[in-house]
Amino acid sequence: MTIHRITYSKEPKRANIINYGCNFNCPWCLYRIKTKPEKCDYLTLDEIKDKLNKMNIEGANFLGGEITTYSHLEELTCFTHENLGLYTKIGHTNGYISPPDYIDEIGMNIKCFSNELHKKHTGKSNKPILKNFKNIHDKGVYIKASTVYIPNLVDNEEIKKIAKFIGNIDPKIKFHITGYIKIPRTPWRSPTYDEVLNAKKIAEEYLDNVNFSWYSSSNEYNTKFSKTLGRVTNYSEL
Ligand code: SF4
Repeated sequence: MTIHRITYSKEPKRANIINYGCNFNCPWCLYRIKTKPEKCDYLTLDEIKDKLNKMNIEGANFLGGEITTYSHLEELTCFTHENLGLYTKIGHTNGYISPPDYIDEIGMNIKCFSNELHKKHTGKSNKPILKNFKNIHDKGVYIKASTVYIPNLVDNEEIKKIAKFIGNIDPKIKFHITGYIKIPRTPWRSPTYDEVLNAKKIAEEYLDNVNFSWYSSSNEYNTKFSKTLGRVTNYSEL
């Protein structure tokens, strides 16, 4: 039992089913600075089904921590997809565990391409992830990819390898580069706008649909770059 919250989105009309917990140990994880839900906050499978049954929705979005670690995911996605007839989406996953069959769309975050780097920072090999990524695409599931750009860790070389890997599967797969947001007690800085923009250009050598987001604590930067490509968000608003 690790689902602790269900929220409603108006556009598109869907339920967001939010999990707590992950099988990775990324030092840059944003969830580390979030409060762990109390045990009593977790919902049982029957409670989740009951809530979803009563909602006026067209889709179910599964996310939070690493959703594939939720032990009833297969049963729940089968219920939402087959019984309720909803469009099912895994908002984000690290891709280590193969997702259930009842999923229409997946957003997979590829941490890095080099396996040693991946093992060092997440605690797990990335081989199953790369294999799952291709399998999911080959099954006809709509898959999107993303990577967090971290200067001197996951920067241009890694972005290039990831983009090349995805491009070899299908250059039309959407790829999103997120500028790292500095997490306290980590050695890495946030990238500059130009660094992320440059990474986007590198990825575009292999992929047709590359976008990025870059978070700034500076309003001056927001004003300066708000009309350029990519999404620029004030960190303080997150
Ligand atoms: S895979 Fe995602 S949720 Fe899990 S530790 Fe890494 S950043 Fe956090």
